[in-house]
Amino acid sequence: MARIVMKFGGTSMAGIERIRAVAERVKGEVDRGNDVAVIVSAMAGETDRLVQFCREASSRYDPREYDVVVASGEQVSSGLLAIMLQSMDVDARSWMGWQLPIRTSEAYSSARIDDIDADILSKAIEGGKVAVIPGFQGMTREGRLATLGRGGSDTSAVAIAAAMKADRCDIYTDVDGVYTTDPRIVPKARKLSKITYEEMLELASVGAKVLQTRSVGLAMKHGVPLQVLSSFEDKPGTMIVDETEFEDKDMEKQLITGIAYAKNEAKVTLTSIADKPGSVAAIFKPLAEGNINVDMIVQNFARDTGNTDVTFTVPSDDLARSLDILEQAKESIGYREIIHDTDVCKVSVVGVGMRSHAGVASTMFETLADRGINIMAITTSEIKVSVLIEEAYTELAVRVLHTAYGLDQQDDAA
Ligand code: ADP
Ligand code: ASP
Ligand code: MG
Repeated sequence: MARIVMKFGGTSMAGIERIRAVAERVKGEVDRGNDVAVIVSAMAGETDRLVQFCREASSRYDPREYDVVVASGEQVSSGLLAIMLQSMDVDARSWMGWQLPIRTSEAYSSARIDDIDADILSKAIEGGKVAVIPGFQGMTREGRLATLGRGGSDTSAVAIAAAMKADRCDIYTDVDGVYTTDPRIVPKARKLSKITYEEMLELASVGAKVLQTRSVGLAMKHGVPLQVLSSFEDKPGTMIVDETEFEDKDMEKQLITGIAYAKNEAKVTLTSIADKPGSVAAIFKPLAEGNINVDMIVQNFARDTGNTDVTFTVPSDDLARSLDILEQAKESIGYREIIHDTDVCKVSVVGVGMRSHAGVASTMFETLADRGINIMAITTSEIKVSVLIEEAYTELAVRVLHTAYGLDQQDDAA
């Protein structure tokens, strides 16, 4: 008998018939004698709809009230799943985040989970009940509802698995595992039977939305065995594992494990800044104080004028606020003008293999150059290279890079 956390995403919960199929899967685990907690997302499209309501109500909405609104999608789907399970004679009930409670930080709309009281859950499942819990939500110390950022139900699931010391955390979604890149844009993407926590963390952080980044970090920290699999087909999924579970030959064979893209960054350029100590600090200090996460940074020195242009990226959602902050700091920074562009995309290649191999970046640059794709900014880490390109080239760039690194699925392996 095992203790299992099962998480079902929005597409898996979209409508009564799909919820029935989810309930059948849950019942299957119960019938095999396992103790089960289920974490659910809102029905597909529901969170977007609720977010839109908040935006229409006011462009400067209170994030606490936004959380009250957007958390409601998960309340509906968890109640419906409990009803469906009961109709199949499975002993089930729902617990909202505040009832357990799942305690979070006070960063409304992107809160972190601080701790989870596992008592209620452990007692319930030991008594043979299936606990159904809405993902994405928790409660702050001041007793208010908070949500965990988009895609946050993955993090709820892993946090609950860690708190309950579950034997497995299974993330059921609309693809049957983690692929070398988004299978919706590259049909030749290959399913990975396993991937290291570290690579999954990096891929998620640069845009592979199949798992929320924080959920991977949490699973790595607590050693939660994590699996991504299809809620529609009975197929083996992808295991997220420790690097020690890979043979050295596996690691060396593949230089790049995956490619991801993110269209949610905006590019900002400040022109004609004096090339002297303190200029760059004058730009990034007020942005940091405004809690704006700057990602890529490029500085171009023009020898003839002695001035530099500084280009960087910020989350698109924070662009308007960033521009306000930079306008206010115009005098202390001393730039001529601000140019901004949201039609950009960050494409990243990730793989632990690049620690021991040179040439990953140059292959990337040459491959993009061959297709006439211009690179506007570059960042690297030990296991990742990212470039910023024009958004219109996203699909083409991901496809040609996928081929260039030898990741394409061979027809006979399909
Ligand atoms: P859920 O609603 O179940 O949480 P998401 O939409 O958040 O599902 O995540 C699943 C989606 O992630 C897939 O439909 C796929 O388009 C996308 N995706 C992006 N990169 C990858 C990848 N490398 N492997 C698998 N899926 C990916
Ligand atoms: N429903 C939330 C979202 O759409 C959380 C989740 O599905 O993980 O972002
Ligand atoms: Mg998701």
